[in-house]
Amino acid sequence: MGFGPSALRGFSVSGAGGRVEYRLARNAVVKEFHKGRLSRLDICDAHPELLRAARNVGVPLAEQCPICEETSVVHVTYVFGPRLPAHGRCAASSQELAKLCKRADEVTCYVVEVCPGCGWNHLARMYPAGGRHRAPAAGRAPLGGAMGQHGRSGRSR
Ligand SMILES: [Zn+2]
Repeated sequence: MGFGPSALRGFSVSGAGGRVEYRLARNAVVKEFHKGRLSRLDICDAHPELLRAARNVGVPLAEQCPICEETSVVHVTYVFGPRLPAHGRCAASSQELAKLCKRADEVTCYVVEVCPGCGWNHLARMYPAGGRHRAPAAGRAPLGGAMGQHGRSGRSR
């Protein structure tokens, strides 16, 4: 997948079960774009498969694309782990994602922010799930809670 090495800069570890937020790195890229140091060609390079997933199974956010400012961005979640495709399994629904996160095998979920309009894409967060990360009490925490916060705190300019 084309997450790009830029996604690995400036991350912050929240400490909640190994979850890593890439919001700072993402904002840095957006800033570079608005300063003219990056072009749309550099950052709106979503792979056709990723764009297809964004249109079909993306979870819409209440946030405009920071690049084209015309389309709402969506989140697409890929799950990597044993007995899953090498390029990750794209979660087609929240039900499928929940199922993947309950696997006995430890898996890693990558949430990618994608604009179906212009092809902007950036890693939003990654978190471990399955295996020892299966938390019965906090079953709804991994995605639902974070998504809500994300939408409400959305300031695009
Ligand atoms: Zn866009």
